[in-house]
Amino acid sequence: MVISGFGTFTGGIDLPDEKDAAIAAAIAPAGHIGRLRVPCAPVQAAAARPTVRIGQFVTRGERLAEATNADQVDIFAPLAGRVAGFCEVMLPAVSGVGRPQHPTGWRRSDAVELTDLDSPAGIGPLTENYDWPAADEHSIRLRIAEGGLTTFRRPVVPLAGYIASARQAKVDTLIANVMENTPFITADHRLLVEQGLEVVRGLAILARAVGAAEVILAVDHRRTDAYHRTVAPAKLYGISSIALAHKYPIGADAILTKVLTRRRVPPGATGLAVGVAVTDAATCHATYRWVACGELPTARVVTVAGPRVNSPANMLVPFGADVSEVFDLVGVRGDGKCIHGSAMTGRQIVAGAVTGPSANALLALAGEQQPTPTPCIRCGWCSDNCPARLNVSALNDDFELGRPDAARRHDAMACIECGICSYVCPARLPLMQRVRLLKQAIET
Ligand code: SF4
Ligand code: SF4
Repeated sequence: MVISGFGTFTGGIDLPDEKDAAIAAAIAPAGHIGRLRVPCAPVQAAAARPTVRIGQFVTRGERLAEATNADQVDIFAPLAGRVAGFCEVMLPAVSGVGRPQHPTGWRRSDAVELTDLDSPAGIGPLTENYDWPAADEHSIRLRIAEGGLTTFRRPVVPLAGYIASARQAKVDTLIANVMENTPFITADHRLLVEQGLEVVRGLAILARAVGAAEVILAVDHRRTDAYHRTVAPAKLYGISSIALAHKYPIGADAILTKVLTRRRVPPGATGLAVGVAVTDAATCHATYRWVACGELPTARVVTVAGPRVNSPANMLVPFGADVSEVFDLVGVRGDGKCIHGSAMTGRQIVAGAVTGPSANALLALAGEQQPTPTPCIRCGWCSDNCPARLNVSALNDDFELGRPDAARRHDAMACIECGICSYVCPARLPLMQRVRLLKQAIET
């Protein structure tokens, strides 16, 4: 594995690792789950149309809802069970996209409720039943579209649509981003340790589907010893394994793209604008298991951790599990806030939240739910550490004075929503959230 030797970036901070409690925890099946409320809109689009009726028993993998257009994906039962009804659940929203958002950054999705469930299983070995190395790229893309695959990171979109966008953008480089350099989260790390060959093969499949000539597996340099055995075959598939220093937020797509390719992503754009597509370990893993072995995507590995969790774990959690029920499986003590996603950029969990493709972590953190902000003292820490080199205190002024036009001039759209400004601010101002709101105001 190549260590460093690549570009770096200005700004950023060293975050505490805080992964000791979960980093050695092997991926385990979720314990007993009483009900699933499986989202019919895991992607931020109109819900797929249910194809089941109340009272019907379904088998694992049976279709629950069918896509009626290319913005949706088919929905399959994560476990065998009985259809108890139809309801609404909450999933994380993406800024400025799709249906009206909940003020907390969550969105509603129609869902199929299943009860009388089978026990969840772990990640079992599979046999390949599709000769993907011999298949042509078009056939691989068709197969991906048939499996209801989405990306497993925000924004969650149909994987077939993401591939089509990448091809349209004439992407020449595909990066699997396994930096995972925020505290507590080890889901992708465990996937690479335990399922490295499947992740690598999935990346190779995606590279062919996208048409990328350059394929990079980017990992944290502190973890390379754990990956040698599992990612060694990457070379066979023409994949470069590259270990990078862990300064946060190197795992942000725009930063990773700049560090690895020296291409600068324009403000408000994605890597596709400069010919780079970025994926993750969970998407690669799901791609391999569907394309090569025919396993439908109905679950993901979730790190459940944080200082208030009794038994931190990496669990394979079926889509549609109540977040509160997942926390009950590991035990949570004391008061604090519960977060979906990373401690830096995640969202506080709301009632009705369930797991979906992007739920890589559920964290029970200590500390106040909503710290009380005080006025800016002009210390400059936010701007000094901002990796987008923004004048964050000026943007905070724009927010407080309701000046989206000024925020546009202050380059708010270049914000990558890393959360560093909020993290370092001694006045405890929710700066990232304020800049996110300014971006939404600029876009509307
Ligand atoms: S302004 Fe945006 S990019 Fe800069 S530190 Fe804050 S969240 Fe990160
Ligand atoms: S870190 Fe907070 S207090 Fe310091 S300049 Fe930025 S907004 Fe003001």
